[in-house]
This record gives sequence, C-alpha cells and structure tokens, in this order.
Amino acid sequence: MIIQGCSSQPTSGPRSCFSTFFLLPNSNRYSFKKRATTLKHELDVVSCRFNSPSTNFRIQALEANKLDGVKAEGSRTNLQYDHLTWPSPSDKVPFWKREFPSWDISDSGHVDIRKDSDPIHIIHVTAEMAPIAKVGGLGDVVTGLARACLVHGHTVDVFLPFYECINKQRIKELTLISTYGSYHDGSWIPTNVYRGVVFGIPVVFIEPTNHFFKGQSVYGGSYDELEAYLFFSRACLEWLQVSATQPDIIHVHEWQTAGLPLLYWDMYQYLSLQKPRIVLTIHNLEHYGECRQEQLNKCGLDGSAYATEEKAMDDRTIGHNPERLSLLKGGIVYSNAVVTVSPTYLKETLYSGWLAATLIRHRDKYFGILNGIDTAIWNPATDAFLPAKFDANQIEGKKICKLYVQRGLGLVPEEQDSAKVPLVVCITRLVAQKGLHLITNAIRHVEALNGQMIILGTAPDARVGSEFEGLAQLHNEGSSIRILQMYSEELSHMLYAAADIVLVPSIYEPCGLSQMIGMRYGAVPLVRKTGGLADTVFDMDDQSHSEIANGFVFEGIDEGSLNCTLDRAFSFYREKPNEWRDTVKKVLQMDNSWNNAAGKYIDVYNNVRVEHH
Ligand code: ADP
Repeated sequence: MIIQGCSSQPTSGPRSCFSTFFLLPNSNRYSFKKRATTLKHELDVVSCRFNSPSTNFRIQALEANKLDGVKAEGSRTNLQYDHLTWPSPSDKVPFWKREFPSWDISDSGHVDIRKDSDPIHIIHVTAEMAPIAKVGGLGDVVTGLARACLVHGHTVDVFLPFYECINKQRIKELTLISTYGSYHDGSWIPTNVYRGVVFGIPVVFIEPTNHFFKGQSVYGGSYDELEAYLFFSRACLEWLQVSATQPDIIHVHEWQTAGLPLLYWDMYQYLSLQKPRIVLTIHNLEHYGECRQEQLNKCGLDGSAYATEEKAMDDRTIGHNPERLSLLKGGIVYSNAVVTVSPTYLKETLYSGWLAATLIRHRDKYFGILNGIDTAIWNPATDAFLPAKFDANQIEGKKICKLYVQRGLGLVPEEQDSAKVPLVVCITRLVAQKGLHLITNAIRHVEALNGQMIILGTAPDARVGSEFEGLAQLHNEGSSIRILQMYSEELSHMLYAAADIVLVPSIYEPCGLSQMIGMRYGAVPLVRKTGGLADTVFDMDDQSHSEIANGFVFEGIDEGSLNCTLDRAFSFYREKPNEWRDTVKKVLQMDNSWNNAAGKYIDVYNNVRVEHH
C-alpha cells in the first residue's frame, strides 16, 4: 500500500498536555619489583607506529625507563600490580588493542532502585547506540537512558539501522525475525528485521536490502543519508504496524529520526497505530535535517504540504527557489514533547538560532533535561579496559593508569616524578563546535607549562584532519604531547582514567558527556562556560559556590582566557597537592548518573502518554 501524504494537521496530534513540571607478549616486561631493584637509569629511543584509520604516523618517542617516578606508589602497589605487563610504544600490538576480559554490564542494574508501579513501553528510534554504533554522545545517551528506564521497570526497545559496520559479535541472541516491505520512492523495499540484545537492552535492527546503511562507518556512506533515515523512520513505523506493536512512547532523536513524527501523525495514525505518543530529543541544534520537498515525497509524504512556516519550512530559505524543509523543525512541531539535553542549552536555543521562533512557539512542550552517564559502563572500579581499578576510597589505581598510559605512549618524563606532571586529556570529535583553535592553543600552552597532553579525536573534515596530522608530526616525537587521530572506545576509557585534567573548551556544548565521564574517572574538568558544561562544572576559585566547586571554568573564546585557566589549574595541581587530591576524590564521588535524569524523562513520558492510570 502506498500512502501519499496527508496534508491536514493531526486531529489527535501533538498536544501540550503538561500542567506542572517541569590490559604479554612484549619484550619490555616491567614489574614494579623489577623496577624497584633496577637503579640504572637508561634512556631508550624507541619508535612506534600507531595505526590510525586515516593515516599511519611514526612516533620517535623518548621512553625514560626511570624508576624515580613510581617508587612511591610502586612500593605500595608492588604486589597488586606485580603481574602487570607494562606497555611500550614499541609494542607490536598497541596497549589499547590488547585482549581484554569480556565486558558485559547487562546485569549491572541498580538493584536498590524501586520499580515504577505504572510501567511504560518506550521505543527509541535512533541513528546511534553505544557501544555498537556510537559516534558521539547520542549513542551514549540512548544506551544510558534505555538502561536506566529498564532498571525502573519499564519496557524499552531500541530501533537501530543495521549498519554494515556493526560488529555482530557484540550483539547477543541476534536473530532474524522477519522480512517485510517498507516504502521508498515508489517501491516497497524488502527489509530484514532482526532482534538482539546489547548491554541488556532489546534491540530491533532494521536492514533494508538496498544500499542504505552500507559502508565502513555509521555516517558518511555512499548513499543519501537524508533519504536513508527517512526510509528508516518509516520502516520502524511500518514494522510496528506489521507486528501489531503499540508502545506508549516512540522516542526519536536528532534530525535523522525527526521525520517520524510527521509520518506518524499524518500517515500511520490514520492506519492502525493510535496509542503511541512522540518524544523528540534534540542533542544538537546545529544539525537540522535540511530536506528538499521531493526528498520528503520519497517516503510517501507530500513534501509541499509541509512547506509552511507553522510546519516544516526551513525559515532561512523563505523566498529562495527552491524553498526547503527542515526535518528537525517538523519534528519539533509534530512531537508531543521536545527535550533538549541541558537547562542552559534550552535557554540558549530559545535566545538564538533560526529555530528559536519555532521553539518559543512550542515552549509549553519544550524541556531541558541534563544528560546522565551510564555509571556501569563508565566505572573505574570495574572497568575491564583499565590496568588498575580505583574509586574515591582507593585512588592509588589511578596513578597506575596514568603511568601505564604515559609509558604506553612514551610520555614518561625524563627527570621528574610522573605524578608531578599534570596530564591533560581531550577526547572529542574534531569539529568547530569543540573549539578547535582552543585545542590547538592548549597543545602549545601545556607544552610551555611542562605538562603533558593527549588528544584522542576524529575529524570528519579532511582539512581539519590534515591540520591535526601536521600537529601530530610536529609534537608526537617529543615527550609531552600525543595527538591520536582515531576512534577507540578502549583507549578513551584508559585516557579518562589516566587524566589529571579533562579539557572541554567547546564554543557551544548542548550537554557534553566528556566532562562528566572525566569526573567519574577522577579527572578534574577544565571547560568553557557554555550549555551543559555550565550546568555541570563550577570553578574552584568561585568562593560563592565552594561546596559545588569541581573544576576550572573560563568564559572567553580567546586563547588568553584558556591560557589563564590552564595556568590556574597547573598551579593548583603543583602547589596544592593535598587539595588537588581532595578535588579528585570529590569529582569521583559526584553523581552524574542517569538515576536523576531518567526520572525526569519518565515524567515527560507519563505526561504525554495515553491511558495514563
Ligand atoms: P558529542 O556528542 O558532541 O560528540 P559528547 O561530549 O556529548 O560530545 O560525547 C562524546 C562521546 O564520544 C564521549 O563518550 C567521548 O568519550 C566519545 N568520543 C569522542 N571522540 C572519541 C574518540 N575519538 N574515540 C573514542 N571515544 C570518543
């Protein structure tokens, strides 16, 4: 059946129904015992080759096999870490690619959490899910929120495109359920639907038998992404219809699935789906799903019917030929509730940006809920990727993690105690939003301050990639800076655990997970005051908020503002070691889990669902 679009506004469509709420096999086996008995200081020049997806680059690393730096903790931790195989830049297999113990957090729920008495069935329709299809925070959020809701007693499924790049070994109980047809551009595409379990979450994988979602990465395949995600959005609804599944809530995310609310209210609601209500989360307003009318036609809707200011017209294109649509705007208009990922970002989106007018118009169904992090996935006390575990009561393991990473990357300082050299870590997509000029400036300033810095990031833009490649060639041979252009979940865990400071100098940041994950691993955040960073990091030198002070904050977008703050942080680290240690313990104890935030989402779900008892 081909259904062309219905141009009428949904009769029982989006309503504002809110009242009140708002780690072998290497030649360099060092044990602490060995190192404690070896007093010979030798300096090896070793070279290593890191494999990055974009390029291979050579590091001439000075590896100081010095013992001074670890004697203190080495004597304490001698027995515990005696069998640790220390990495070296000359390892054939880089330390983050070693075999790790199997990692399954499926059962690590919060047993003490009371189940909600009135369970909700929630289906997330998303382009990303951690860890199997994660590019950035979206993947973390979907997995974390889904797990938190499951723990609260709700029924949760995640619908995900079956990207060719997904490592199927990471999916439990993967089973082909059915093959059905879903509409695209005048024909019905045979589509496979699989079920599987990821981190305890039931996942439905949608696999069209055409070229959509083929390629070696989640994004950037050689297919039209907009059309592929429109297809996916409809295929999810089509599967719900074919399988006679009517969840209470369909939770869509970002522009990729923001076309689903239009398809629901103007098509499937007139077929057999009546019960679901739609919640849209905007993780980043920069991506708005620019869509030509004829592209929307391809999913079976009438594109011209949405070309009004009240519906999905891209306001910036009014008067242009052709005028275009924005899937995200349409999603805002057509969803029952719209959530963005921090209270401060909510304000920012109402004050500026071309979607502000639409958001203001729908203010009564628009909420700011600060993201959480999944504290089972991100847990330094149990993390399978860490050479040593730690928590707030036993933080010695963090020193081992730092030394491990330093040795693995050839960053062990020549003269000083490694613990006295502040290690700054920045794990990020290398895009303008993240403050690229501030990141490159930090490299220079940290080096000038005799600190160390590691950047782990990927650059979707080739020009940015080659700029950082140039910086890597300039700095990676020294003993203070490493620029690693690649994506590695394993290395990210190790870096957070090794870091003294996690740097997030974003120009804007809807929420930001890096600073929260960093804190969970005892890294003190140094951030720019914007969006969710402003909601989660409070400056140590702000006496009016000393009880919540947990990091270093700057406001300007200029290099000077960042430099001053790096100076302050480094002085604090070097001059007040006891206070620094207290701060590390403080951030390790902070609760940025989903416990709180999931409750707020559940309130939103309850306020829009039908048949609410
Ligand atoms: P965004 O969603 O804008 O990318 P967030 O801070 O919300 O930023 O989330 C980023 C997530 O992606 C974090 O979990 C971070 O650790 C992870 N991440 C970013 N770049 C990499 C990388 N190169 N390798 C591994 N993890 C990365």
